[in-house]
Amino acid sequence: MSDSQNAVHLSDYQPFTHCVDQVDLTFRLDPAATRVTAKIGFRPNPDRPGRHDLRLDGEGLKLISCALNGRKLAPKLDAAGMTIAASDLPEGPFTLETEVEIAPEGNTALEGLYMSKGMYCTQCEAEGFRKITYYPDRPDVMARFRVRIEADLPVLLSNGNPVGMGEGWAEWDDPWPKPSYLFALVAGNLRAHSERFTTASGRAVDLNIWVRPGDEDRCAYAMESLIRSMKWDEDVYGREYDLDVFNIVAVDDFNMGAMENKGLNIFNSRYVLASPETATDDDFARIEAIIAHEYFHNWTGNRITCRDWFQLCLKEGLTVFRDHQFSGDMRSAAVRRIEDVVVLRARQFREDAGPLAHPVRPESFVEINNFYTATVYEKGAELIGMLKTLVGDQGYRRAMDLYFQRHDGQAATVEDWLKVFEDATGRDLSQFKRWYTQAGTPHLKVAEDWFDGVYTLTFTQTNPPTPGQPKKDPKVIPINVGLLNPNGDEVVPTIMLEMTRAKQSFRFEGLSAKPIPSILRGFSAPVILDRKAPPEERAFLLAHDTDPFNKWEAGRALAKEVMAEMVLKGAPVSRAWLDALAAVTFDDSLDPAFRALCLRLPGEDDMAHTIHATGRVPDPMRIHAARREMAGALAVRLGEGLLRLYEGLDDGLPFTPSAAQAGRRALRLAALALLTRRDGGRLATHAFHEARSMTEEVGALSALLDIGEGQPQLRAFAARWGHDHNVMDKWFALQISHADPDEAAAVTDRLTQRPDFDWKNPNRFRSVIGALSANHAGFHHRSGAGYRLVADWLIRLDPLNPQTAARMSTAFETWPRYDARRRRLAKAELGRILAAPGLSRDLQEMVERMLAAG
Ligand SMILES: [Zn+2]
Repeated sequence: MSDSQNAVHLSDYQPFTHCVDQVDLTFRLDPAATRVTAKIGFRPNPDRPGRHDLRLDGEGLKLISCALNGRKLAPKLDAAGMTIAASDLPEGPFTLETEVEIAPEGNTALEGLYMSKGMYCTQCEAEGFRKITYYPDRPDVMARFRVRIEADLPVLLSNGNPVGMGEGWAEWDDPWPKPSYLFALVAGNLRAHSERFTTASGRAVDLNIWVRPGDEDRCAYAMESLIRSMKWDEDVYGREYDLDVFNIVAVDDFNMGAMENKGLNIFNSRYVLASPETATDDDFARIEAIIAHEYFHNWTGNRITCRDWFQLCLKEGLTVFRDHQFSGDMRSAAVRRIEDVVVLRARQFREDAGPLAHPVRPESFVEINNFYTATVYEKGAELIGMLKTLVGDQGYRRAMDLYFQRHDGQAATVEDWLKVFEDATGRDLSQFKRWYTQAGTPHLKVAEDWFDGVYTLTFTQTNPPTPGQPKKDPKVIPINVGLLNPNGDEVVPTIMLEMTRAKQSFRFEGLSAKPIPSILRGFSAPVILDRKAPPEERAFLLAHDTDPFNKWEAGRALAKEVMAEMVLKGAPVSRAWLDALAAVTFDDSLDPAFRALCLRLPGEDDMAHTIHATGRVPDPMRIHAARREMAGALAVRLGEGLLRLYEGLDDGLPFTPSAAQAGRRALRLAALALLTRRDGGRLATHAFHEARSMTEEVGALSALLDIGEGQPQLRAFAARWGHDHNVMDKWFALQISHADPDEAAAVTDRLTQRPDFDWKNPNRFRSVIGALSANHAGFHHRSGAGYRLVADWLIRLDPLNPQTAARMSTAFETWPRYDARRRRLAKAELGRILAAPGLSRDLQEMVERMLAAG
């Protein structure tokens, strides 16, 4: 990272000078002139002896009045907050009362208090509360909040329990101390979908999902997911809900997926609203996972929060791990694990290998919003999974119980977290801590030896250099291994090998024949396994491995090797791969969802990453062509069996979003996509018009777009769904992500000229500009048109919504991978962004870090 003067460093941490005991907020809402009165009870912090100035954060606030213990005061103001000199402060506790004015209707950054289609809402994580009132806006200051809202609107919500309401006002009291980033307020004309949940100890909780009038009938799935999450957290972690009411609100304009504000979760509407006609199976699965994630934060994040933002993984990694566990229990655990690893590799491994690599716990940042990353979330979750593997299920549960017992009501650190595991299990975790402090994905090389009945596996780990971290020490890596004998029987069931040194051997005795190893079962550590294996061995494991993850992984590795040979050497599609995949596809004893995953070819960006990692320069067009060729050859090889598969999977039952049905649909649509390559789109056209669910509609349309057809269907789709913003996001994204690379930028440009491309809405922006960034060969087109168009739009979005612009700039993070021409073009666009007048701190930090790579 560039050593900007504004950087915040972990090593500079100090507790806040004062403690806050109570906060009383009054909001008089008005689109252009909302008045916020804050009455805050302070006392000196015993952990910071001596007398200190009081420094409060505040941005874009118009101060109307300020009084200390009832006496008027003129504090020192600057662009980032206010300071009251120590000499003006009493020695003991005191009350500060401020009144400020803010304009929610002009807030396009969607941080703090803003408006979305006539409704007021807030987003305070990470540092949005300072745009609402003057306050020590940091997570280690935890206080009780009481809130009064005055507005001429029917629904007025805040955190905690409702304590009073009348015509034009409502009051809320949150009994649980919380940091300001968990504050929330919502006001608008909303309708509730309501249910009731009784906790294990008998507390009756009112559950409400608040949506715009007319959307009430699309909340049932989110509500069921919430109830399942509440029950699951009681059963698996012994955690109960702790208020009388739990509210969820759906908002159309939202930068993130959702936010876990205490008792009042705010959701991007696309992760709440679902019906079979409007949501795909993937949407249903995502809604279930995000509802669970935000709910689980009530304990991992809210009751126990982070001391500072460097510890973000403490709440996010842990909560992602918990939502993965939950989804695995609700659905097929094997399928979920494979899908989670696909995401980890696509997003986190990519990040870890480029200029934006950073440790799970970063050491410094300029803008914290730039660190809500795949590394903090996804790799953070993998670290929890490794800890659980290392200490065992019972050790994990003991440690979690101790964590909740010891740190409830506190703002904790990664050190506190590891100490809990050490105390609960007696293990020394000092080496494990490197996973939190060192960036980069370890590579694991394997050598095998078979001599005199003894089989030896020797592992060598290398930890590649990353920005600011040239040298690293070996990590502790749990490697789950099983051994199969040559006839396919498992002779050594899964055992965990604990690797702690740079090079380490493990011996297996008493075997009658040289076994075939199944290494890193369940993807037991987030590492890259560098192991050359002959195609026959991959095919053998694809057919025989008892570990579902490694069974899939064998097919995956084989497909990637085949694609690499095609790209780098012009090899033909491998017969062995086609035969092995055909055997899996038609094996009815296997879960259809698993077979659908096996049929999904490796992504083009993933392939480019792999080729680059072997020291070659990836050519996006060749990768694109090879992938298409593989799909075409597969369609031919699977032959008439595909049609039988497609027809046989239609059970004619009414739609349910169950995992079992979704798996059958996924396999059926994978078959349709392949059939479409042979029949010119005849079957897919029929399937589109007969579709009974959005999953089928999108599946058929995608298959047509893939062969350059589907224009009449796109028009029909728009005519049917033009009124529905969330569904139309799919329509925009589909035609860009399936566009021919030569046309992707032009298709995108044309779509941005439509009146319904309301680019200030983050979902719509992502579904268009994000879709172009994800069209690998289109974005990295040698003309530079993809780079240019994305840069144009980032420059345009940045002044309005820096957070989303910065996040989407990661499209460029892989630029050092490519050839000189592409590097020059991408670098020029990054330079152009950097030169944009009034560039935000968010986007500047991202672009500087990316440019620092070369
Ligand atoms: Zn979260």
